[in-house]
Amino acid sequence: MHLTKEPHYCYHCGSILVDASDNGYFREQCKNCGEVLYRQHKVGIAAVIFQNEKLLLLRRAQEPWRGYWNLPAGFLEYEETLEEGVIREVFEEAGLQVQVNDLRMVFKYWDDPRGNGIVLFYDCQVLHGDFIENDEVEAFQYFALNEIPTNIAGAGHQSMIDTLKKEGLRNA
Ligand SMILES: [Zn+2]
Repeated sequence: MHLTKEPHYCYHCGSILVDASDNGYFREQCKNCGEVLYRQHKVGIAAVIFQNEKLLLLRRAQEPWRGYWNLPAGFLEYEETLEEGVIREVFEEAGLQVQVNDLRMVFKYWDDPRGNGIVLFYDCQVLHGDFIENDEVEAFQYFALNEIPTNIAGAGHQSMIDTLKKEGLRNA
């Protein structure tokens, strides 16, 4: 993420922040209370779901990457465990209840306009449920690994798909 020209303000006291970059790492510091603000990674969780050897992908109805495909995924809420986050996102976006199995892969990404982050991909097994129309998703489809569309969203999803193509499905 690049430096923004807009002013930022301290979340403790509301005073303006000044650049306090250190050795090339971006930081801001409050002129009033001295608080140093470090940029934080966003944390995402995502689900690898195979049915009949086909991978579930959802086509995004919202920016960023509107119209591109990704695995069921989203940001982890502060209050929830990793497993709870996966279960919630899969249900919200795909209408499926899943069992969360092994952590499959972790990727860092730099390509999301909302900021850099890490995303954890978990192997999941569908227990029950059906797709429910929602604002975040405009299509729900299972794809054989050799039929995956080329318009894949950012934030690590292409890396996950490349890994699946290399390793094949596992305990799915
Ligand atoms: Zn302050």
